[in-house]
This record gives sequence, C-alpha cells and structure tokens, in this order.
Amino acid sequence: MDHRYTSFHLTAAGCTDPGQRRTVNQDAWRIAGEAETAHLWAERGRFFAVADGMGGHAAGEIASQLAIDTMFDEYYGSNNAPLSPGIRMEKAILAANLKIYEQAALQETQAGMGTTIVAAVVRDDWLTIANVGDSRAYLVRDGEPLQITHDHSWVAEQVEVGALSEEEAQNHMYRSVVTRCLGHRSEVSVDIFDYALESGDVVLLCSDGLSNQVSAEEIAQILIEYPPDQATGELVDLANQYGGPDNITVIVLHLLEPPGDVDQAKGPG
Ligand code: CA
Repeated sequence: MDHRYTSFHLTAAGCTDPGQRRTVNQDAWRIAGEAETAHLWAERGRFFAVADGMGGHAAGEIASQLAIDTMFDEYYGSNNAPLSPGIRMEKAILAANLKIYEQAALQETQAGMGTTIVAAVVRDDWLTIANVGDSRAYLVRDGEPLQITHDHSWVAEQVEVGALSEEEAQNHMYRSVVTRCLGHRSEVSVDIFDYALESGDVVLLCSDGLSNQVSAEEIAQILIEYPPDQATGELVDLANQYGGPDNITVIVLHLLEPPGDVDQAKGPG
C-alpha cells in the first residue's frame, strides 16, 4: 500500500525512559500508526506527539496519556472539513485541554493535574509544530540545531525580559515551573509554527528531561550521526549519563529525498 503524504522519505522512532532518579514515568508519546490512521495521512498528514505530565497520585501519567489519546482521536476524527494541519492540531489540543480540565474537576485525586504538549505533523513538504509548555521541538538542518518552540516557563520569560541569563535559567530552582499547560484552565493558547521541509532535515520532539541535560549542539551531533531508531537511544543514554534527574522522552524524524530508483522507474525522457 502506498501512503504517500510527503515527497520525502520519512523514517521515525520514539522512546521514553524514567531516568535515573524517578520510579514513575509521567511522560507519554505516540507516532501515528498505519493500522489506525494511514488512510488519512495524504489528507491530514502524519502526526507525532510528546507530553510531560504533572500532578501527584499518578495524575501526571493520566494527564499526559489523556492528552495524547484525545489529540490523536480528534486529529484523525470525524471532522472532515478541509482544515490546515495547524488549525486541526490546535482544535485537537484544545479538546485535550478541556478533557483533562473536566476530568481533574471531577476526580479529587486528579485535581490540579496538567501536561505539556509538543506535536508535529508532516504533510506534503511541510512541517507543522504545535506546543504548550516546556517540551520542545528542534529542527536540525545543515548540521545546525534550531529550537522551533519557545518554552512557556517562568525562567524562559525571565530570560526574555533580561532578568536572568541563559546560564542562570539553566540552574534555577524554578526551572521546571511552566506558565502554560493543558488541564489547568478551560482555555489555553497554542503556539503553531510552519516550516517548508528540505531533504536531510531532522526533527526532534522531546520532554525537558532531555533538553535540561543535553545541549542543542550535542543533540544535533547525535541526530546527524545516527538513524532515528538509534538516535533515540543515544539521546536517552546521554541524558542519563548527565544524571537523568527527570523522565526522558524523544521522537526523531528523518526526511530524505526518496531513493533514485523512483525516478528511474519512470524511464528516460
Ligand atoms: Ca519533565
């Protein structure tokens, strides 16, 4: 079956790890699988997401998984309107926000639960990224790492207004305080970014368990050196070598020009 939804050949892999100091893993991730969604890839693109949950009594795990499940259901759901990936992602994230918010209000043990979200869609030759919170998306192009998302965190806001340096933010006691997340309010503002893809692009979605420990330059080096299924393990290993204080989750996408035999099959002229 040909699920052609981009002119690039896309390979993807993801994994999660509790890290060195935590027994529970409150992160969640998913890559759109052929069984459930491949018939919609040409129309809506292929969807990828990482979520980092917060809340005691196992509520963090519930929030991040609920976010992932609701987003995928909404994104590939029954709304057949011809929406752009960005608009459709925003609707899916708003639906996830409301679902977590409502469930947190009903279940006493889940009160105050929340989650970050960073999601990617590849459709045609475009990459669309959406985020809420401090989970990140990076694009590595020509060997250079570009952080696509802006952290919705207290330290990032302080850096923006010049009250903290990057170095101070890196080690600040409020480093993990997010200023936006899913589940805390009935409405939330979602950031959306669109990029025209180029052959050789590598995209990373990750939770802060990776980005707080491993620099953008180290991330880029691994993403250039290894294919996605190996890069994910290498990134997790490095974060753990640096102490692994938090749960670590990564999804890696490689986009390459399709192999030459596709053109040859058309024949000369
Ligand atoms: Ca985290």
